[in-house]
Amino acid sequence: MRKKIIAGNWKMNTTATEGKVFIEKLLQKKLSEKVDIVVCVPFTHLCSVGKMLKGSSMKLGAQNMYFDENGAYTGEISPLMLLDLGVEYVILGHSERRSLFQEDDELINRKLQSALAHGLKPILCVGENLEERETGKVQKVLSYQLRKGFDNLSRQEASQVVIAYEPIWAIGTGKTASDEEAEETIFFIRKTMGEMYDSEFSENIRIQYGGSVKPSNIKGLMNMKNIDGALVGGASLNVEDFEQLVNYEL
Ligand code: PEP
Repeated sequence: MRKKIIAGNWKMNTTATEGKVFIEKLLQKKLSEKVDIVVCVPFTHLCSVGKMLKGSSMKLGAQNMYFDENGAYTGEISPLMLLDLGVEYVILGHSERRSLFQEDDELINRKLQSALAHGLKPILCVGENLEERETGKVQKVLSYQLRKGFDNLSRQEASQVVIAYEPIWAIGTGKTASDEEAEETIFFIRKTMGEMYDSEFSENIRIQYGGSVKPSNIKGLMNMKNIDGALVGGASLNVEDFEQLVNYEL
């Protein structure tokens, strides 16, 4: 039985001071224990938020990392630095990093290998853009991103990865894939993972949906058989909305 995982991706929003106030408010809420809850905050917040989350059921996540442990990589953050601050999850391959910062599948794969070697749990984002959807290339694009992303990962390592299916046309646009559309594509991802590893593996790997998830549409998405949670951008920046998202079953 796969446990649902709901992760908030704050992106480049809030100051560290505002982030602390947000987490203080969130810690006062009664949050469901039936789902894994992750907050992926900016690097500058990891230290303070990490301390605040100690002893709570919420997990700390980062939004990116470099693959090397240290060295002359001005402006980058290493897996060791994340581990030192209590980070458990790290988003890798987000479409904004692919498109705005030219991250390709090879680099994302190196980051994935490094995260796993250091005991971090990657949330690997995959997804097609609008043109690719409209020209019938969804499966081709996803298959390529998955095969490249998981290259050289052992079955054991790969089982630690959470996949986030995020159609680019649905991110921050208010357009959500319909429940059935998301389910159909996530089923394809699961099937592909079965081909890459085996059927037991594909039954166990968690696959989230991401793209304009909000309190009004979460239930329908979470009721789909193959959808194991959500990666949430905009709505994770509002305490009440995030509370409703993680408590969608209550
Ligand atoms: C995201 O950034 O991962 C995301 C899904 O954003 P939003 O929920 O705002 O569409």
